[in-house]
Amino acid sequence: MSIISKLTTLTLTLGMVAGASAAVFDPSKPVLKELKDGIYQYSQFFYNSLVVITDEGVIVTDPSGDVRSAQMMKEISKVTDKPVKKVIYSHDHFDHSRGGKIFIEQGAEFIAQENCTDLLSRDLEDKVAYPTTTYKDQMTVSLGGKAVDLHYYGKNDGNCMSIVHMPEDKVLVAVDWHLPQYLVSGGRLIDQDYVATLNTIKRVRKELEFDTIINGHTPVDSPELLKESEEFAQALFDAVWKGLQEGKSVDELKESIKLPKFSHWKGYEEYLPAHVERMAYSIWHGN
Ligand SMILES: [Zn+2]
Repeated sequence: MSIISKLTTLTLTLGMVAGASAAVFDPSKPVLKELKDGIYQYSQFFYNSLVVITDEGVIVTDPSGDVRSAQMMKEISKVTDKPVKKVIYSHDHFDHSRGGKIFIEQGAEFIAQENCTDLLSRDLEDKVAYPTTTYKDQMTVSLGGKAVDLHYYGKNDGNCMSIVHMPEDKVLVAVDWHLPQYLVSGGRLIDQDYVATLNTIKRVRKELEFDTIINGHTPVDSPELLKESEEFAQALFDAVWKGLQEGKSVDELKESIKLPKFSHWKGYEEYLPAHVERMAYSIWHGN
């Protein structure tokens, strides 16, 4: 081996090591990233929140647990000394809604779609700050010149999802009815009305203007990735619908349906059958 090729090998190896270490992602690390003026994405433990910082206080979504909300507060206080005034629950599921009590002493208002109160009132672990404000179809949360619209578009992941949208800043918060290029496991689909989820995505893309998206769980998102989510849900619906019309059983459909266009999605091999099954029952039962 010549010296040059030895050096090349060494450089390549070092490059790979450096690349590998740069790619190591530590989900416990709190990250408050500014997306637009005063608008941040807070990410930790594979959960994301919208954080809006204004002269009159702070708006946050989804505390997602005591440890996470305490660290979120710590990160916020590095940027502003203003208190958290508004806490918006995207939906009721405890993995998103617990952990808000830290904001009670700051005088925060807790806001959710009205169907959320049932589950939120019966948290056996008593870790939810109960909503102080609810709405039915639509409301605008205003603070310090910023406006965050909440829309209820019906069922999708559960039955009290707020579509969170900042119309002037063109920011959308899409929690659990869109997860880019990611197929979750069957257990996490249990409350998903898949037909309604497809309808939600279609309606959001048609009616709301946005160029920036924060989803519930993964760090990077975009309008193109939301479009891809619609294409996946539509392709899944079409394939399952056709199979059901042909009289095939759900077990047969779980075996036979393949959507190779989406084979690069995380969890595709393992979890596509669970998504076929959930779509089949959503079509059949309407939930
Ligand atoms: Zn959920």
